[in-house]
Amino acid sequence: MRVFNFSAGPAALPEEVLQQAAAEMLDWQGSGMSVMEMSHRGPEFMAIAAQAEADLRDLLAVPANYKVLFMQGGALAENAIVPMNMLRGSTRADYIHTGEWSKKSIAEARRYCTVHIAASAEDRGFTYVPPQAAWQLSDDAAYVHVCSNETIGGVEMHWVPETHAPLVADMSSHILSRPVDVSRYGLIYGGAQKNIGPAGLTIVIVREDLLGKPHPALPSAFDYRVVADADSMYNTPPTYAWYIAGLVFKWLKMQGGLGSMEARNIAKAKLLYDALDASSLYENRVNPADRSRMNVTFFLKNEQLNAAFLKGANERGLAQLRGHRVVGGMRASIYNAMPLAGVEALVAYLREFEKEQA
Ligand code: PMP
Repeated sequence: MRVFNFSAGPAALPEEVLQQAAAEMLDWQGSGMSVMEMSHRGPEFMAIAAQAEADLRDLLAVPANYKVLFMQGGALAENAIVPMNMLRGSTRADYIHTGEWSKKSIAEARRYCTVHIAASAEDRGFTYVPPQAAWQLSDDAAYVHVCSNETIGGVEMHWVPETHAPLVADMSSHILSRPVDVSRYGLIYGGAQKNIGPAGLTIVIVREDLLGKPHPALPSAFDYRVVADADSMYNTPPTYAWYIAGLVFKWLKMQGGLGSMEARNIAKAKLLYDALDASSLYENRVNPADRSRMNVTFFLKNEQLNAAFLKGANERGLAQLRGHRVVGGMRASIYNAMPLAGVEALVAYLREFEKEQA
């Protein structure tokens, strides 16, 4: 039996995608091979790769002057790869500090440049996104970095900042959950294992004119110009993850694209936040305007009940609700692949568990 899986990542994938992958596991479309067994330079995989890129470009309406890269290393490697590509001889970058993931980005960037914290939400325990009016951007920053969805805190930036320097966004945990105006960004990156596909694949979307002035110590395999010129095949890419991502992109198109996904994601998140707000047992601590549609964090006011809550959830097939160890409490990650029925089942359990305590 498949459970409703609320993991923050690696996370649930659409069941149709897993079924298609299973059906094609031993023999991909008459090739007599699994996709895992194909040369990345053979005609079959080249076609899979090109189709996935075309579908991703289509979904996000990526402008022609942007490169889409299929890389490895995850978002944490990007924390170094970004400054090494994007400083372009400069020694300063602006970062917005909204939680645990931007904290890691900041620490890593400090190894390569002077990091100016242009705004921070630390004063209120990372429960909000500092409004743009409070940002103190530098005149000479090479770029401005944001984490547009903080997976651990459950804080999401629902607006696009205005910056003079190129805007760089870690979108790991909400990419493809809504339409995005890519032209407002210099660079977007994200690990695949939440809303795209299996772990091991990292997506980078970067404006072409920003490429070509790498840090001298940058490994060639992480030089965006080198990777782009080789169509993401400078070295062997994570081929199977790329293929699964391609199936997810097709699935998203079948669902009506990112506009329809956004409408569904708004509905799912509203159902869950409304239930939390209406209860006296649970609480979400994030400023309502900045609540994440993807990662819904909540606490039981009586933390003694945590273990019983999780046990009951598991018994009902509601899996992986434990919050991140840094913040504790609970977290329901409700990415694209989580159906409304999963959120409804969670809400029913929240009510039932609360009633039992009365
Ligand atoms: N940034 C964000 C927003 C994330 O959610 C995560 C993973 N949870 C990371 C970075 C780290 O990604 P990875 O493990 O793929 O390096």
